[in-house]
Amino acid sequence: MVATSRALAIEHVTLIDGRGGPPLADATVVFRDGRVQHAGAAARLPIPQDSERLDGRGRWLIPGLVDLHVHVTNCGAESLSLWLANGITTVRDIGGNAEWLVQLRGELASGERTGPRLFTHGPMIDGAPSGFRQAAQMGGAPTFERMWAEVDGPDAAVAEVDRLLAAGVDGLKLYQLLPLEPLQAILRHVDGRIPVTGHLTRTRASDAIAAGINCLEHNFVTPYNDVCRPEDRTPDGSGWQVPGFILRVHEGWARADLDAPYVQAFIEQVVVSGVYYDPTMMWGTNALALEETEEQGERYLSPTMRRRREMQAEAARRAGRPPGPVQVGDDALLRASAERQTEFVSRLIAAGAAVMAGTDVGALPGIAGYSLHRELRWLVRLGMTPKQATETATRRAAEALRRADDQGTLAPGQRADAVLLDADPLADIRNTRRIHRVFKDGTAYDPAALLAEYERETAAATS
Ligand SMILES: [Zn+2]
Repeated sequence: MVATSRALAIEHVTLIDGRGGPPLADATVVFRDGRVQHAGAAARLPIPQDSERLDGRGRWLIPGLVDLHVHVTNCGAESLSLWLANGITTVRDIGGNAEWLVQLRGELASGERTGPRLFTHGPMIDGAPSGFRQAAQMGGAPTFERMWAEVDGPDAAVAEVDRLLAAGVDGLKLYQLLPLEPLQAILRHVDGRIPVTGHLTRTRASDAIAAGINCLEHNFVTPYNDVCRPEDRTPDGSGWQVPGFILRVHEGWARADLDAPYVQAFIEQVVVSGVYYDPTMMWGTNALALEETEEQGERYLSPTMRRRREMQAEAARRAGRPPGPVQVGDDALLRASAERQTEFVSRLIAAGAAVMAGTDVGALPGIAGYSLHRELRWLVRLGMTPKQATETATRRAAEALRRADDQGTLAPGQRADAVLLDADPLADIRNTRRIHRVFKDGTAYDPAALLAEYERETAAATS
């Protein structure tokens, strides 16, 4: 780690500044006091006398990456350095204990802890009884405390929002069993002060967009009742906690008619409203698995994640289910479902929807940091160019966080969050993994050193 208030000059680098223009060859980028001071053609920029200099020849510089959907609680605070080692300089936590996350946000901002910048949406605001409570009563795996909140009606919903605003959250997350009325009451009460996202099932995504929600999570479930055939819609009160729900949704996707007028109308609504759409392709598409298993970082499974898997296996044993992910449906069904889901996201991208990059790491399979590179690969497979995918996880993510005036590009004045790559990400999106250095607020990190330290610390914690 090189903490310095001196300037750092990266010379002769190919600059992809995230603003949409073509890459700039032989650029010089100067960071000072945590901000971009200069970024431009090398010949035109004088290097400040006091600069530390870093040779960028044969390398590419992109803005720091953002994962818009993580659960730090599930991954464990020990995973924070994994995000940084993978070039992710900002994460948005959308489900955890608000007080703990606000404290963590401060420790990361002050440098007391090494890791990405943290935005928190506090706990998942669910209807009553919450799907988490129902799952626990049915003998499912326990969830960590206070990752979710139950609200029974609009008044309770507004009171919970006031509690979270007082705690200092950056946004809100509405959850699967929240009915339309409290959802509308929350959005009216928030009145645009902070962004609101939703993992929805009971309330239709189209109704939530009409009520003013800012972002949608999970292509597998949230748009499902707007996209499936009317006779395949899920009944009120059902969600992942209900046995048979996941299978039913796969069957509905497999039968969905994406040319139906109501699907076209929904796509149009998503595009025109400008709602951010975070598909988290990790959920529901296992049948079309991306192949590079050795690059998924499984060796960095955190002690907290390992403990969680053990608790889930134990809960499965008690319930008489096989351990590991519950298998639903046959391969042909899962493949047909996954193909229809991916086709739907492709159509959203082609129509110009604000499709984003989030992974749900901690709740879905995957390892902190590694999972985002996989999601970027998905976005390219679904129709984005590598340049669009890179901008999605940088500038457009900053827009979704309402911080585009502060971070997300390498323009002068912006936060000095960047990733120096050994290979061209615009030639192949998998090159976002070829990381030479990561910069957060102008501080340089060597990913190999971060990973070595992570392995030492987690080995000590588990021995
Ligand atoms: Zn989640």
